[in-house]
Amino acid sequence: ENRLAENGGANLATPLPPSSRSGWDNSIDYYIKKQLRVWCRLQNGFWELGKIQSDFGGKASVILLDGTVMTVSTRDLFPTNTEILDGVNNLVELGYLNEPSVLYNIQYRYQRDVIYTMAGPVLLAINPFKDVSVSGSDLIMAYKEKILDSPHVYKIADVAYTNMMRDGVNQSIIISGESGAGKSVTTKLAMEYLMEVGNSDMAVKISQSWWILEAFGHAKTSRNKNSSRFGKLIDIHYNTEGIICGAYIHTLLLEKSRISQLCRSERSYHIFYQMCAGAPSDMRDKLNLRMASEYKFLNQSGCLKIHDVDDAGNFKKLMEAMDALKISCVDQERIFKLVAAILWLGNISFEVIDHEFHVQVVPDEACRSAAKLMGCKVKDLMAVLSTNKNQQQAINMRDALVKFIYTSMFSWLVETINKSLKGESGRSISILDIYGFESFQKNSFEQLFINYANERLHQHFVRHIFKLEQEEYESEGIEWKKVEFVDNQGCLDLFEKKEVGILSLLDEASDRLEGSDLTFFNNMKKHLSCGLRFNDEKGCFKVDHYAGEVNYESTGFLEKNKATLLPADTILFLTSSCSNFLKTDLDKQTVGTRFKYQLFKLINRLEKSNPHFIRCIRPNAKQLQGTYDKETVLHQLRSSGVLEIIKMSKSRFPTHTTHQDFANRFGCLIWKKSNGQDVLTTSVAILKQCCVVPEVYEFGYTKIYFRTKKVLLNLEKLRDEV
Ligand code: ATP
Repeated sequence: ENRLAENGGANLATPLPPSSRSGWDNSIDYYIKKQLRVWCRLQNGFWELGKIQSDFGGKASVILLDGTVMTVSTRDLFPTNTEILDGVNNLVELGYLNEPSVLYNIQYRYQRDVIYTMAGPVLLAINPFKDVSVSGSDLIMAYKEKILDSPHVYKIADVAYTNMMRDGVNQSIIISGESGAGKSVTTKLAMEYLMEVGNSDMAVKISQSWWILEAFGHAKTSRNKNSSRFGKLIDIHYNTEGIICGAYIHTLLLEKSRISQLCRSERSYHIFYQMCAGAPSDMRDKLNLRMASEYKFLNQSGCLKIHDVDDAGNFKKLMEAMDALKISCVDQERIFKLVAAILWLGNISFEVIDHEFHVQVVPDEACRSAAKLMGCKVKDLMAVLSTNKNQQQAINMRDALVKFIYTSMFSWLVETINKSLKGESGRSISILDIYGFESFQKNSFEQLFINYANERLHQHFVRHIFKLEQEEYESEGIEWKKVEFVDNQGCLDLFEKKEVGILSLLDEASDRLEGSDLTFFNNMKKHLSCGLRFNDEKGCFKVDHYAGEVNYESTGFLEKNKATLLPADTILFLTSSCSNFLKTDLDKQTVGTRFKYQLFKLINRLEKSNPHFIRCIRPNAKQLQGTYDKETVLHQLRSSGVLEIIKMSKSRFPTHTTHQDFANRFGCLIWKKSNGQDVLTTSVAILKQCCVVPEVYEFGYTKIYFRTKKVLLNLEKLRDEV
């Protein structure tokens, strides 16, 4: 694992100049004379702090902090920032901008339990995996009253709220990061702030809805004990007084496979375990409920409990939340019946009845309980599951049925929550939290779509942080040294290309009667050979994502992509037997197409708002507290372009105004204004007369750009005095 060494040079500032160029205050002999710290790149590619003892012929002898003395090439020595800059709030304040300095600064703060750092306009949030007391009403008030200004989720939420109130423009807070990086916790903190500043009865309801979404849409994975398995965008609506008057939750594809199949040490959705552990006795009797360990869908992975998580307590909170959102007792009962029915369906077994290997359902307790809970006759359920089917077909049918029930139930819940949160629509702040980038040993359909969504989101980030602003400088004729950045548009094109992109090829193979996973695989090979890498033997293809390369196994893709695996007669059976809220969705769109449509809707909504970005970072892959794995962190910093963001922020113009607006706003500050004078001449005269030095502004064709926010603020003050 030598990733640091491989790429180490790419983003680094220049190494220290050699001694022969003495006189420079960053030359090697200056560092020797002053005994200043340097970054020394070791053979494994990592950097350590040290002091140079001597140098000769392109080599230097360096003593590291732990006392080790080593000889390294002078090309591996890089300048450090003075100790005064250790742990700065915003990485933009660093004098020397290189990877070791950025890594060190974040680590310095992390070791002191300071988990937030600004990288220009972007908040970096490093997951402490322990309580570091970063929340609460007092802290919220301190940010609201502007007593505190240090980097924090509350600060970002405060800026969003203030902007919305001041400018009347919708805002968005976009939270991204790998799975387990802390997005959901960060989302909760942002919501906490927004609920408190716009407090109303509606705010309480919104907070309660979280328990429902979490119970039905989160699960333990190998990387996160509370991983969200669906994407969400929560719009919070405010009235003109800044009080919350409603909310709307948009969701993005819930992972289905988890309901019937689990990987080792993972769990299904929390609700199953919560109900088994926490249902009161009358409910247990009604549902014929057992312990989680007695259900095959739950006991297959060897993981029933999560350390430090109180499933029974969480079930109580869920019921309270359902009451708060006015979900009727009848509907609650229907929901829990279906949850229990799914568990019993998982315990159903089949026996072979003839030489064609046709099977029939064993009419045991599992089958009887499932039928009763679904409200149908045992023989009808048996017929639906096994008529003219062999063992595998029957199992597939059973699994399709439980997925259908669960996902319909989830949609119904979201719809019901939205009805309950509906109020007047006003200006809004939207918070986006989608499942983080995933790369496992085995990656399938679900990972492909999760990672595709992350690519889309990353493009939104790249566009707003790098592209739009630089394009504007260029079109305005501003002198600007372009900041290079990695644009992931190429990878997105592989997915979205018309007719021959991954998504279209998948749909095309799914639509064909004789289409198979192999058809899909071969077509990708034919059309996408320059973007993807293939392994014929295993039917695998590799995508080079912005966050790293991922190897996908194409087996099972078609089946998962098909609109519904349930035949018409089963759907009919479901509508008559199951509760009426199971909408039999006869939509013929494939899963992939629907996903793309939902994703575009979310991105469109974000495009219409003023964005604020938060990047969550995992300090290590093992969810440990106090462990800062430099390679893991650096990989995330690189894939989110943090160094480039800082470079960009160092030279960007934080405020601008059109010549016209400027002349109108501050025209009163000049003594003489001749009639018919154009706005550009007026603007120049204002700046001159108010003694604004030319170093702090730049004229574009239609706008004036300022290097600090203070210029406009000072001019405003002058105007107030006139
Ligand atoms: P996924 O994409 O899988 O949903 P995620 O990025 O939303 O992951 P979270 O569920 O927010 O990750 O965080 C994972 C775990 O890390 C949490 O369950 C919690 O234990 C811990 N954690 C995250 N942020 C914090 C924090 N600010 N303070 C304390 N612990 C935290």
